[in-house]
Amino acid sequence: MIDVDNALNIINENTKKLPLEKKDILSCLNKILAEDIYSKDDLPPFDKSAMDGYAIKSDDTRNCDAENAAEFEIKGSIKAGDYCEDELKSGEAFKIMTGAPLPKGADAVIEIEKVEVKGSILKVSQIVNKDNNVVKLGEETKVGELALNRGSKIRPVEIGLLASLGYSSVNVYKSPTVALIITGDELVSIDSKLKRGKIRNSNEYSLKALIKNLGAKVLSLGVIKDDKDNLREKIKYALENADIVVSSGGASVGDYDFIDDLLKEIGADIKFTSVAIKPGKPVTFATYEEKLFFSLPGNPLSLITTFQELVKPAIEKMMGKQFENKGEFPVILMEDFKAKIGRKKYIYVEIKEHDGKYYAYKVGSQSSNHLMTMSRSNGIIIIPEKCANVKAGEVLNGKFIL
Ligand code: AMP
Ligand code: MG
Repeated sequence: MIDVDNALNIINENTKKLPLEKKDILSCLNKILAEDIYSKDDLPPFDKSAMDGYAIKSDDTRNCDAENAAEFEIKGSIKAGDYCEDELKSGEAFKIMTGAPLPKGADAVIEIEKVEVKGSILKVSQIVNKDNNVVKLGEETKVGELALNRGSKIRPVEIGLLASLGYSSVNVYKSPTVALIITGDELVSIDSKLKRGKIRNSNEYSLKALIKNLGAKVLSLGVIKDDKDNLREKIKYALENADIVVSSGGASVGDYDFIDDLLKEIGADIKFTSVAIKPGKPVTFATYEEKLFFSLPGNPLSLITTFQELVKPAIEKMMGKQFENKGEFPVILMEDFKAKIGRKKYIYVEIKEHDGKYYAYKVGSQSSNHLMTMSRSNGIIIIPEKCANVKAGEVLNGKFIL
């Protein structure tokens, strides 16, 4: 049995980023940018008005106040998308709409709500500063400037930014295909009535959701009976057709737990077969050429925990993200929690925030079968390997879960 940090190091060493692919920007949501992006234009490409109002020379208002209004002759109106060829002279104004380019000679805009207009005469009774309500040329970015770093996550805002910079497609890291092998003769489909000895196959759905959430692709091979020959074929097929294979169940030392034997038989390089993690433990990690194989325990909570802690960082690394497990912060225990020395324990809890501090409360049984417990929780606290029972008032690291 190896500890979680060691397991993560081994997984990291054996995981490579996938090659790049050029994709249209909308297909890049949540992917990692694989190139630096430079601005092709100045943005905005001209001095533009930030308000509906009047473009003027600010200097014309230098002696203005409520008693002494400055008067301007309104020469015309400029709407967004127009370009005004005329040069504005002292004592003149142009009506201007939000987003329209300032006419030459103008250096400020006064809002429509702050002026008086009589016919073609505009009255301004306050000092207007230079650049008031003006978005300056190149204020957001200049030609040739680094706009987005390689390695950044593409969120909806980056998709908009890429569009504004004139990029309809960009290079991103490919998403891995994750094949699922769900084992267990006790498993029946969601719609089935539960006959004696049977349970519904929930792991296939949790895994599909977890993988989808990361933006990776799923190749599901469905439920595979605990039959060695059948399972061998499915494992080979999965390794040929996916970047990562995740199996559920059959990972332990029961009479029908064949996964480790089969991996050895087909020549996979088994790196470890159990990890000091709770819930979890019977986790096998193997490589086969460039492919990764994770055999996870069938207990639903163990499955989700081991996937999140061990498989997720590998999927993310393949997609170009940093290999890391971030987001932990100190949490104050509000109750005692029972635990045994020897494994790193992930306890599902409710974390509440109060005055910038975080507090952990119990949500139910921590038996590794109980999805219901996890469903009631919003986070976990982590009890280190060498610690046993912890008491209310102690501080542990914790994190929020999805
Ligand atoms: P195993 O790892 O195969 O020994 O399974 C451990 C426990 O997890 C058993 O109680 C199984 O019935 C349960 N289990 C295995 N696979 C699934 C699954 N796909 N969905 C829900 N529970 C499962
Ligand atoms: Mg089983």
